Amino acid sequence: MDWMEPYTYYLSIFGLLLFFVGIILLKKPRTLSRILLSTSLLLISLFIIFTALELLFEHYQLMLWLRNLQQVSLYLCPVILFGYARELYKQNHKITMKYVYILAIPSVLSVLLIFTNQWHGWMRESVGIQEIWNLTEIAVMPTRLGMVLSVYPTFLTFFTVVLLLRNMGDLPVNYRWSHIFSAVAICIPLVFTMLFSFIPYNVPGKMALSFTFMAILLVIVNKRYDLNSIWPVSRHKILESLDEGILLFDYSNRLIEINHSGSRILQQTFQWDASSDQLLGRHVSEIFQQDQEVIMPVVNREDIRFEWKSHTSYFQLNIVPLGNEQNGMLLVVITDLTEMKLIEQKLYQLAHHDELTCISNRRSFIEKFNELVNSNSDFSFLLLDVDYFKQFNDNYGHIVGDQVLQKLALLLDSFFSGQSEQSTVGRIGGEEFAVLIDKGVDDTIRIAKEFQQLLADQPIRVTELEEEVISVSIGIATNSHNDLFTFERAYNEADQALYRAKNGGRDEVEVY
Ligand code: GH3
Ligand code: MG
Ligand code: MG
Repeated sequence: MDWMEPYTYYLSIFGLLLFFVGIILLKKPRTLSRILLSTSLLLISLFIIFTALELLFEHYQLMLWLRNLQQVSLYLCPVILFGYARELYKQNHKITMKYVYILAIPSVLSVLLIFTNQWHGWMRESVGIQEIWNLTEIAVMPTRLGMVLSVYPTFLTFFTVVLLLRNMGDLPVNYRWSHIFSAVAICIPLVFTMLFSFIPYNVPGKMALSFTFMAILLVIVNKRYDLNSIWPVSRHKILESLDEGILLFDYSNRLIEINHSGSRILQQTFQWDASSDQLLGRHVSEIFQQDQEVIMPVVNREDIRFEWKSHTSYFQLNIVPLGNEQNGMLLVVITDLTEMKLIEQKLYQLAHHDELTCISNRRSFIEKFNELVNSNSDFSFLLLDVDYFKQFNDNYGHIVGDQVLQKLALLLDSFFSGQSEQSTVGRIGGEEFAVLIDKGVDDTIRIAKEFQQLLADQPIRVTELEEEVISVSIGIATNSHNDLFTFERAYNEADQALYRAKNGGRDEVEVY
């Protein structure tokens, strides 16, 4: 036994090194993919160390035990790496672990049969010692069952490589490299075995050597494409903590990813009672229930942003194609604007409506005045002021006064909107109202008098027993004489006419 024999010396050094790397990988944040990678590194490191010891020792029983211990890694490593490859693509811990447990059953059985072989001899026909490079290792002649069972880890390795290559198609280009290099790494032991079955040259502990290369490449890939980067490790947390709905579609417009907010928005908007998992795999037209406004840009891979209203909700949709046109994916970011729109509407309401009477306030009335008035048709402006309202307040109190103003506003609004669609009503002072209507002066005088009559016919209840008739004086200004009919001018002229109406005894109509 020569401890300083260079081959076994370096083999053990690599074994120990990988052991420490495996331990380091367990540091936080822990994810299943890292734990699985770390487990396989630890198994590989033990495999390498046991191989080096087997080569060093010359005691047959001890060597046989060391060889048997190596089988644990040899049979279990492909199972663990399969789980790792699955997690590399999509984190679904429960399902991955289920696969790992099921796939481990044949491996565990094989290992048990190998350890107990000396009592039944089902796995090995003969066991001897062979010498290569002055080193001794166990030479095994497997039985037919032993051979069949040894195919299992090879089959699993193939399967893992296919899985890695198939899944990388769904990933952004940057992440494909981790799949390609991992597949190459996992292939190394297979390539080694094939290579040495062709060339008439033997290397002691060649399996351990091939596993060393595989492990080193896996560590490099892991380091280079750090699994703590946004994709895929923290991806889940980031997605789930967003308020925006995130939907990811594959090249055939089927949903492959959706975060919690995304499924909540879809559930609320379309009354889906499907969970996120049930939505996965569905086509965009099914998910957006034939709403072409969303489906078309997704199908056409447009890079756009637009507002989308569905039922009573408002959203902003941001559609971003990812990757190339043929097999790229597509990201849909949904921002819920409903609450913001409601606040906007509320603010608009507050800014444009009079708080007491709910009709247009002065500012809004002026805006509408400017929108409506044009020099092509006749417009008249009416200024209405409640008569003796101060006294009314003194008699019945301000609360009743307020109620009267509310009733008056309601009446004004319904009366004038019945007269013309091109009319607008506003409260522009305390008990002062204004009306703009697209009528000539004669029509307007008639309409104004009709309104006064309406008030006279509708006494307002002021106490439980009493009713009061209120009246308004009305001043009218019209645009038939001049082209520049601004609000200021109309107001000024109507005010002068109103003054005359008051002086003339009130409940009168006067024209400027
Ligand atoms: P007239 O117009 O006929 O000359 O007499 P008036 O008593 O109505 O006189 P004026 O228009 O000058 O008085 C307006 C009164 O309207 C004063 C105030 O008490 C009352 N008023 C103004 N705004 C409100 C309001 O929001 N609520 C109530 N209850 N009263 C108001
Ligand atoms: Mg007044
Ligand atoms: Mg008044």
